[in-house]
Amino acid sequence: MPECVVDAHVHLPLNPPMTPDDLVSALRGHGIGAAVILGLPPAYEVVLNTLDTQHIAREHERLVKRMGKYIVGLEEVLRPESLIYSAIDLLNRYGRLCHHRPRGSGYVILAGVDLSKDPEDLMVELEIIADKGFAGFKIISTIFFKYLDDPTVEAAFRVASRRGLPLVVHTGCDPGIWELPAYCKYGDPSKLEGLLDSYGEVRVVLAHAGSYSAVAPGVFIEETLSLVRRYENVYIDTSALPPPIAARAALSAGPERGLFGSDYPVVGLESLSAYILSVERSLREAGLGWDDINKIFRLNAEELFGVRCQG
Ligand SMILES: [Zn+2]
Repeated sequence: MPECVVDAHVHLPLNPPMTPDDLVSALRGHGIGAAVILGLPPAYEVVLNTLDTQHIAREHERLVKRMGKYIVGLEEVLRPESLIYSAIDLLNRYGRLCHHRPRGSGYVILAGVDLSKDPEDLMVELEIIADKGFAGFKIISTIFFKYLDDPTVEAAFRVASRRGLPLVVHTGCDPGIWELPAYCKYGDPSKLEGLLDSYGEVRVVLAHAGSYSAVAPGVFIEETLSLVRRYENVYIDTSALPPPIAARAALSAGPERGLFGSDYPVVGLESLSAYILSVERSLREAGLGWDDINKIFRLNAEELFGVRCQG
């Protein structure tokens, strides 16, 4: 187990409710010395107003036709109704953290970016958020049904550039309806290309390395790795990925631009230390030495987010 681990990707559970301090002490019992807590932006109304149950039923049918033969029980596990419920559940389960100012050095908080806003208004809001001491912004475009080249995403890049803050961008599908290709497409990281060309000074973490999906893990990994190869300011995190995919992504990004992340509480606490060990083992088996592993598990996150690991 690495000496001190920074988890670069966790969320604050709302049920039962926890404060960031509670969260960090719970994580500490499982081998985590500091955490980057990602706020979820308010998309509840957007999703309710956009949900088209007939479209979801049709898309579900297409997915089962295409993937049903590869995944046993897909049809029963992912019924259209359960996709809708898990989508709503996702939006209700984690804290928005809009007005919380970080204290102490064992964690930092990233503010979720509300992509439903007008880009000009959004920039004003993000400036205020930056004044409050947040350590960066979290973009999740899937839940707003927007591609990553949307003008609102550029608004976040502009403020991040002005304020010298990092951006963490969700890539890949999401639980519930976002497993359907018609909605998962919004998590395609290759849409960021134009913004990465224009804002080379903004450091961007592609969360989940484009691979988040229960149905098709690794869905956009090639697009992600292509961006990491071409842009020096692009990082990846390993959150919510099966250890072999996590290790492959971290190796391709290289020890300077890979970050360990779990996506707790999506990954349960009981399995967190096992997850750390198994990602570490895969990296060792691939030939990485202690110094490089220490960068991925600790130093890169400390440097990028200004958090301090307390081992
Ligand atoms: Zn997450």
